[in-house]
Amino acid sequence: MGRKKEVFKPINPEEVKLYACGPTVYSYAHIGHFRAYVFVDTLVRMLKYNELKVIHVMNITDVGHLTDDASQGEDKIEKAAKKEGKTAWEIAEFYTKDFFDAMKKLNVQKPEIVCKATNHIQDMINLVKKIEENGYTYRTSDGIYFDTSKLSDYGKLAGLNIEGLKEGARIEKNPEKKNPTDFALWKFAKEGEKRQMEWASPWYSHSFPGWHIECTAMSMKYLGEVYDIHTGGVDHISVHHTNEIAQAEAATGKEFVNYWLHNEFVNINGEKMSKSKGNIYNMNDIESKGFDPLAVRYLFLTAHYRSKINFTWESLKAAQNTLETLREHMKLLQEEDKKESKLEKIQEYKTKFLEFINDDLTISEALSLMWQLIRDEEKINNQDKYNLILEFDKVFGLGVGEIKTEEIPEEIQKLVEEREESRKNKDYQKADEIRNKIKEIGYKLQDTKNGIKVRKI
Ligand SMILES: [Zn+2]
Repeated sequence: MGRKKEVFKPINPEEVKLYACGPTVYSYAHIGHFRAYVFVDTLVRMLKYNELKVIHVMNITDVGHLTDDASQGEDKIEKAAKKEGKTAWEIAEFYTKDFFDAMKKLNVQKPEIVCKATNHIQDMINLVKKIEENGYTYRTSDGIYFDTSKLSDYGKLAGLNIEGLKEGARIEKNPEKKNPTDFALWKFAKEGEKRQMEWASPWYSHSFPGWHIECTAMSMKYLGEVYDIHTGGVDHISVHHTNEIAQAEAATGKEFVNYWLHNEFVNINGEKMSKSKGNIYNMNDIESKGFDPLAVRYLFLTAHYRSKINFTWESLKAAQNTLETLREHMKLLQEEDKKESKLEKIQEYKTKFLEFINDDLTISEALSLMWQLIRDEEKINNQDKYNLILEFDKVFGLGVGEIKTEEIPEEIQKLVEEREESRKNKDYQKADEIRNKIKEIGYKLQDTKNGIKVRKI
């Protein structure tokens, strides 16, 4: 993995331990999320294609993610609950279901372990206690904070200029914080505030976890103190993942994760997604415009995960057309082809495919290779092409293996035979009449190298 042809080495050579930051379930999953999880899914598929066992853990943030993404503001779930007149638990349940429904439509495989923050409160308390015992915390009126000045390499993931941050600190929302980069490990409910989601903790009777501690506590619980891969969007680098590293390394003294992989953003019509622009599209927006969710997946596969992608309805239409062409080819490739394949040519395609996917997940090149294979007139027959594409699709996840040749009704089969008879007898007028009749019923005839083929119009 990595552009420098760095060889990816899991800690345990047979098993990859991977943690993906999951959704905060307070609103509909949107196209930015779709990209993040299609990326993780292709990564997992690529690892499995390399015959590695993968333990893929993803969290569901159903508490503690505050509106400013740091340590201040309202809890996103509680805020949505007030707005929609539901309980916080109902909000979390509703949007978790929406998330997984969307993932299923995108053919994203469910992680081996999905863990909810609210089910792991004690694990988080234990981790904060450990960080506290190691001397990295202090208490303010609204929570237990992490003192980032105590960790000499704080910010190493993002290359943060801590001194610069200190000097440039603008108006700090929380004057009790010792350093601008300090963050809440554990938050206290405000005086007189009745939260729906709150727990007793060693620090305060009405309290709840900070967002960053959730991912560290849950990933360490399921994958151990040190594991292989952690993923998330690029927006997580400077705060969320930086703080995850700080928490883990303050607790264990060990380097937390070996490989951090971040996917870039999706722009919409060249602009950032934002509520005010009304360009945050969810699955309903995509389907109500008549698009196949897998066209979204195809579109994402055409760009490298570390490049921004510009989403437009036109680009989605183009992706959908290409996907439909691919499906047509998969039907055609199920036709008999007596040509003999050159085995070394098949091997060549397999080798190239593996090179592309293993070169930092260069899926777009692997897709081009597949199209090259489809167009390869010389050395590979239909069956071998079909089987190779099915194998490649284990990584693409476009579901092309489910495309079957159409069942042709008996009535049509009979007409085709009758037409053949007429042609043999040189009764071309009758043959044409039968062809028209077949067309009226909704089928067309095509002459191919292997004889007459019938297709649904
Ligand atoms: Zn996370």
